[in-house]
Amino acid sequence: MGSKHVAIFTFPFGTHVAPLLNLVLKLANAAPNCLFSFIGTEKCNAIHFPMPHIPSNVKPYSISDGIPEGHPLADHPIEKLNFFLQTGPDNLHTGIRMAEEDTKKKVTCIIADAFVTSSLTVAQTLNLPWISFWPPTSCSASLYFYVDLIRAAKTRVDFLPGLPNLAVEDIPQEVLFVGEKETVFSRTLTSLGKVLPQAKALVMNFFEELDPPSLVQDMRSKVQSLLYIVPVRFPISSVEDASGCLSWLATKKPNSVIYVSFGTVVTPPPHEIVAMAEALEESGFPFLWSLKDNMRSVLPSGFVERTNMCGRVLPWVPQTQVLAHHSLGVFVTHCGSNSVTEAVCSGVPMICRPFFGDQGVVARVIQDVWNMGMIIQGRCFTKNALLKSFNMILVQEEGSTIRDNALKVKNIVQDAARPQAPSARHFNTLVELISTS
Ligand code: UDP
Repeated sequence: MGSKHVAIFTFPFGTHVAPLLNLVLKLANAAPNCLFSFIGTEKCNAIHFPMPHIPSNVKPYSISDGIPEGHPLADHPIEKLNFFLQTGPDNLHTGIRMAEEDTKKKVTCIIADAFVTSSLTVAQTLNLPWISFWPPTSCSASLYFYVDLIRAAKTRVDFLPGLPNLAVEDIPQEVLFVGEKETVFSRTLTSLGKVLPQAKALVMNFFEELDPPSLVQDMRSKVQSLLYIVPVRFPISSVEDASGCLSWLATKKPNSVIYVSFGTVVTPPPHEIVAMAEALEESGFPFLWSLKDNMRSVLPSGFVERTNMCGRVLPWVPQTQVLAHHSLGVFVTHCGSNSVTEAVCSGVPMICRPFFGDQGVVARVIQDVWNMGMIIQGRCFTKNALLKSFNMILVQEEGSTIRDNALKVKNIVQDAARPQAPSARHFNTLVELISTS
């Protein structure tokens, strides 16, 4: 046990990093004699490593982001993903060498974000066990086992075990890229169905209890071991409320506030921002809107001043605490995996406006499996569709089923985190895997 050294490969973008790092911190506490080398890029490590709670057996190492020197990055979030993935196994080997030289211990096991598929080649070359970690919402992993069938589907994708009927537009667009449209990233995603079965274990960052049993059963039949570990949430000792939004929320009635956020990557088109502002203003409901500063200029003139009595527009809010606040009534979301996890943990109904990636599939699951939200009519923000959704969820009797289901989901999630629940067993299996390999 004393000689175990786990190399962790993160997909160093957006919100993929935090869930893996949180799992590693939990592992590092459970296996204090084991070393964990967290291999990311300089930028990603700089963001995540000043954080508290880092045990001494976890250390970051930085490898190349693959961006050619002086290359001006296009305003497209996928470009940097392609550059990083293109660096392939060589770059990852560099990380392993750095970690081994520094710790004087050979790496004994690899845990990698599922999107860093070339880490499998590294594991094979070094003859190491390879464990894959899935940060996005777990149900979306199932898609990658059916790429050929999905590509052949004309309009409906209604054959995925456990998933509701999907429209082709719900599918991550990269899955549909063929020929010239293919990118390193799209090829990475479409290879997952062949890559993931080679993992000693596929670790889901979610609640098994919320995935349809036939989906879980189908995925279990395809991989060597499927472990669902509930997303790790470290207790927050003091809540940062620099903007005062939590104390503002405290002045509002229970279940009354609309919270709007599109996460860290999505930039909705200007006409949808305007539609949101008009709907919020006309509805009269209290609202909190996390809106990046660069989008503020799109707001209708005078909107912030006119709605000052009932609303707040801020560039960043402590979202986990906002969603957990008793005054929250509904969350308008792009269905990013962290946002969805935070909303299910707090039992907040959602109005879904998916933009890209697996957000369309997750929105369907929120609406049709958990029945704790609705996809915005027409899949894009219009004033009328928003007003209808706000009323439905916050006021109408019809919305009471959604509100009740959101609370049921919260209870399921709380039960899933109990020490007797399967997640705790799955975590112990993972500790065992890294300790004995
Ligand atoms: N977030 C936050 N404050 C904000 C906006 C977002 O704390 O004002 C956090 C949110 O709690 C979540 C993350 O940013 O943990 C967004 O992650 P998600 O996976 O939902 O979306 P992404 O940014 O990857 O599209």
